[in-house]
Amino acid sequence: MSEKKIKPLNIITDGMNPVIKKHIEGVYYASTLISGMVWFETGEGAVVIDTLINIPSAEKVLNSIHEKIKFIIYTHGHADHVGGAKVFIADNPEIIANKYLPERFDRYKFLEPYRNLIAGMQFNVPSTIFGKGVKNYVYPTKIFLGDYTFKLGKYTFELHTGRGETDDAVWVYIPELNTAIIGDFIMGPWFPNIGNPWKPTRFALDWVKELERIRLLEPEYIFCSGGGYLFKGEQAKKAMNDNIEVIRSLHDQVVELINEGMHITEMIHTVKVPKHLNNSPFLKQNYSRPEFFVYNVYRWYHGYYDHNPAHLIPRPEREVMKEIYSLIGSKEKLINRVNKLFEQKQEQLALQVLDVLIQSEPEDIEALKLRMKLVKILAQDDTCVMSKNAYFYSTKEDKKTIRQIRKKSKDFPS
Ligand SMILES: [Zn+2]
Repeated sequence: MSEKKIKPLNIITDGMNPVIKKHIEGVYYASTLISGMVWFETGEGAVVIDTLINIPSAEKVLNSIHEKIKFIIYTHGHADHVGGAKVFIADNPEIIANKYLPERFDRYKFLEPYRNLIAGMQFNVPSTIFGKGVKNYVYPTKIFLGDYTFKLGKYTFELHTGRGETDDAVWVYIPELNTAIIGDFIMGPWFPNIGNPWKPTRFALDWVKELERIRLLEPEYIFCSGGGYLFKGEQAKKAMNDNIEVIRSLHDQVVELINEGMHITEMIHTVKVPKHLNNSPFLKQNYSRPEFFVYNVYRWYHGYYDHNPAHLIPRPEREVMKEIYSLIGSKEKLINRVNKLFEQKQEQLALQVLDVLIQSEPEDIEALKLRMKLVKILAQDDTCVMSKNAYFYSTKEDKKTIRQIRKKSKDFPS
């Protein structure tokens, strides 16, 4: 067994250094590890699509935009697409977004404490990164639903709204360049982010329909992940085909299993990515993963009730666990079983059995240490940012709890 500590996967930092690339004369894109933007210099002004994640990143790009910014288009309201907008508004550009984007910004404001908490879990960043961001967000000056086209200089910008990773998506097609800018409808090389354990539902079926609509245009170039990635020709085709196939397949499997009445905890282990897509360079499971996809589609189509009357209006979990723990009657018995499961490499099951003890005795240091041991195993080969960081956060919190318990017993020895 490896003795290595769990390390978080850090994809957000405060002052990221964007890499700026030229596609063709007047068309540029910039990216950080998590965010991207692209801009088109039309001869009559620049059109900026997405704005990077925060002001320090955006400031490093500003001087590379050679024309007056006339339009900003948000592909959706996620922080990594809108966070730097303030830097680009000196010339009062029209800021265009989906009709539902302002509601997202409003939500981010009233959910700020929760969102700060989960930023720590999901991204291992201090709460201030997103807290500051929300206050800096720039609301659009024009919102729409459906299709909207405008021309500026040598280019036509055809905008279309849709639902995908969010309900407030916009993708853009420029016929003169046969280029589509599609936000997070494709996440660069990453498996589609259909499912995030902390966040509201994503729209798998709408997502795939929108990608199919984009594919019909046969774009030669696709800027995605805000513009952080550029796929060309055959690569663009394959990126679309693989994303479309995996979303259709997983979505349809979940629908079938819902109709068969399978329990969600069985479903996440039953639904599989088609074998031939397992090594697709466009579906790397470094951010989201299929289990999260399954939960998400299930949540969209299915209520919380799993048809078990014990779960309809349940007592608090902690109360139930305490009952079970008192029936087991012995901490030693429970710990022995957890250790046995650990030896049999059933860490997840062991973690759930151990939870009976932790929920009943939240200040049991031995139990917290055992949880850290199990979580370390679960995390060690995990390359998915969201699950790995969730495990890292749990361990960080357990260490903090142990320190507090020890301090308390020192201050007030029994
Ligand atoms: Zn996004």
